[in-house]
Amino acid sequence: MNATLTHYLCIGCPLGCRLEVEDDGNDIVQVRGHQCKRGENFAKEEHKDPRRMVTTTVAIRGGELPRLPVKTAAPIPKNRMQDLADELHKVVVTAPINLGDVILANPLDIGTDVVAARDIAAV
Ligand code: SF4
Repeated sequence: MNATLTHYLCIGCPLGCRLEVEDDGNDIVQVRGHQCKRGENFAKEEHKDPRRMVTTTVAIRGGELPRLPVKTAAPIPKNRMQDLADELHKVVVTAPINLGDVILANPLDIGTDVVAARDIAAV
């Protein structure tokens, strides 16, 4: 198999190192461009199983605000983000809501919960 080179921008700190991952088609052969172990780990994860936290809002009825900020409790696979956003688009919760309340438990079997990112009192 032919080796491939893929480039990533490290988001581990403000230095923003440009990372290069060499892959032989079966596995990672080498990571270059990192200045610390954190960057090397980021490059490997980004190459094999990229994940992101999702932060968005859902509708809330009876609250002091019209939208409730929510987030995933842990990073989820990048390729499931749109599915989760579509699912959250259907959600309407009722105030009051407290920071950390579980809004959806393991939606779409993504492996983590969606939780409230702030309190919203009822009015
Ligand atoms: S490789 Fe290390 S030093 Fe470079 S941006 Fe990533 S975390 Fe920062």
